[in-house]
This record gives sequence, C-alpha cells and structure tokens, in this order.
Amino acid sequence: MSLELSHVHKSFDGFQALKDISLSVGPHDFVCLLGPSGCGKTTLLRIIAGLLQADGGEILFSGQDLGQMPPRSRNFGIVFQSYSLFPNMTVRENIGYGLRIRREPPARIAARVDELLQLIRIPDMAERFPWQLSGGQQQRVALARALAVNPRLILLDEPLSALDARVRNEMRHEIREVQRRLKIPTIMVTHDQEEALMLADTIVCMNNGAIEQVGSPWQLYHEPGTRFVADFIGLSNLLSADWTRRHAPEMLAAHPPPADESRWLLCVRPEHIRLAADANGPATVGAVTFLGNLCRMTLRWGDMDLRVEQHAASAYREGDRVRPTIDPAHGCWVTA
Ligand code: ATP
Repeated sequence: MSLELSHVHKSFDGFQALKDISLSVGPHDFVCLLGPSGCGKTTLLRIIAGLLQADGGEILFSGQDLGQMPPRSRNFGIVFQSYSLFPNMTVRENIGYGLRIRREPPARIAARVDELLQLIRIPDMAERFPWQLSGGQQQRVALARALAVNPRLILLDEPLSALDARVRNEMRHEIREVQRRLKIPTIMVTHDQEEALMLADTIVCMNNGAIEQVGSPWQLYHEPGTRFVADFIGLSNLLSADWTRRHAPEMLAAHPPPADESRWLLCVRPEHIRLAADANGPATVGAVTFLGNLCRMTLRWGDMDLRVEQHAASAYREGDRVRPTIDPAHGCWVTA
C-alpha cells in the first residue's frame, strides 16, 4: 500500500503551482507536506485525492495508476481544515455517511460507528448535531467519518489550524496515536513546523511549487540541505566560511568547507552555542527573551548578530561580555 508520485506538475493560467514533484510514501508512513503559504501543498494533496487533475506525471498507488480514477474509487479518507460536517446530520449519521452510500447493512454501520466513537473518544455524543460540538470534537468526528470506510490512505489538509493551541496539541497526539494504531499511510498538509516535527515520520519541505528536501524530522533539523530549510525549520545562524575562519576556526576543522565556499553557509542552531562570562570576551549579549525553561538572546559577535539559546538558569543580561564557543559536534553546510 504505497504511493508513488513521479514528475507531477500543475499550472494555473501559466503559473506553475507544482514543478516536477516526485515522492514516495511507504505503507505505514506519516508524511507531512510542510511549507509556507502558497507553496503548493494543498494543490498536491488535491491531486492525490483526485479532486484536481495534474497536467502531467504519474501517480501510482500499490502499483495501480490513479491518473483517471475518480476520487471515490480511490478509497482515500479526507479531512479538511473546515470540518465540513453535514450540519443537518447527527454525529452518528455523519460518521456513517460513507457506509450508507455504499449500502452497508444498518447493523454493520451501527457497529462500525460505535467502534469509531470509542476510537475518537466521544462515545456519548452520537446523537448531537455538529453545532452542539466544540471545534476539537467536530474535527474528531470529521476524522472518524474519513476512517469509517477503511481508507487505503488518509489525507489531512491543515486539520488542526482552526483549533486553539491547547486543543490543537491534544488533537496532534490523538491523530498520531490513531494513525499508529491503524497503520494507514497518512499525508498531512501543514505550514506549522512544530506540528510537522512532532507528527511526521517523513517531512516533505516545499517551497515555490518544488520539493526542497525530504527526510525525517531529525534530518531536516540537524542536516538541512538548503538555506530555505535551515530558515524555515527551527532557528538557525548561517555563517559564511570567512566569518567562521575569523571567529570560530575550530568549526572549520570539524566541518571543512565545500570547494566553492562562497556558495555555502554553515548552519549552526542556537542551542549549539555556549557562553562563558568573560569581561574580555569577543561578543556582547543583546536582547534577551525569557521563555520559561530557556533564554533566547541575540549575540553581537564580530560583524554578525547570532541567535543563542541557553538554559534559563544561566542568566545573562543585555550588555554582558561573553566568550562564545560553537559545539563542533553540530553544524552543517547549506547552499546559500
Ligand atoms: P496555504 O498554506 O496558504 O493553503 P498552499 O501551499 O496549500 O498554501 P496552494 O493552495 O497549493 O498553496 O496554492 C499554490 C499556488 O497555486 C498559490 O499561488 C495559489 O494562488 C495557486 N492556486 C491554487 N489553486 C488555484 C486555482 N484554482 N486557480 C489559480 N491559482 C491557484
């Protein structure tokens, strides 16, 4: 049950929304399509769902060409950002909708709906209407409705973005748990890097209609391939080879610069810079932001402002002189 996309592309009135997208999704994968607004995530999801036709390329599911297959025959479960529940149907009727369309026997539908109500943990709300539910509960019902027909693939389009932070966090855990339990391959669109890092087995980072990098959350954070990925996922310091040679030469010993060094930048995450108080140190602490367990600060070092994160216990103040060291165990070169 794997999905293979090769060389998929799509234009709208001459605007290339998707350029040459190739991607594989394994049988139990949770894949997040991550990228800024307008980069083509939803377009790609709609093409996979069959709601939109690609201009070219191939999409195979378990070896079968999906090209001309209508959405319903694909048997994919889809959950959109707006819960899009049927307002005049109860929770039970909403969840059972797909099964009724398929003319499943009523007893089997009732049993399946009960099972899903347990799974999404709202067993006592079966007879309510959507307007009697909170946003999080509505999104649970939308998920149950998508799961009812035993889909071969789940497609989620920013399903949590309308929820407040606390409910969103709770739902993230639930979606992940349900997906792990059912082992259905899942593709979720999000522009929220934290969500992608938390949920995905594989992140597909998109920019401008193209894939920038595909990898595990760990890889995209610790080994970003491009400046875009380094900037989009987490905070980063992007240091030229020249600056690094002058201020942190030990980093160049650990990470020799690529041949054409002017085209590369060394990506260093804020938590990999350590500070020691030193009145003769080469750097000065700038603005300090208290984040509870962490302090985030800017650091004037040579002609650069770096971002640094320290445990909040190590309280530096604006104006303190410090001696920074970058941990040579971390850092990687990205294309500028
Ligand atoms: P967001 O996070 O804001 O939803 P996205 O990454 O999902 O963004 P898409 O909705 O896939 O982006 O849109 C990609 C690009 O294609 C955008 O520039 C958008 O304006 C354009 N586009 C999408 N659908 C159409 C359409 N039906 N007609 C014309 N242009 C479109």
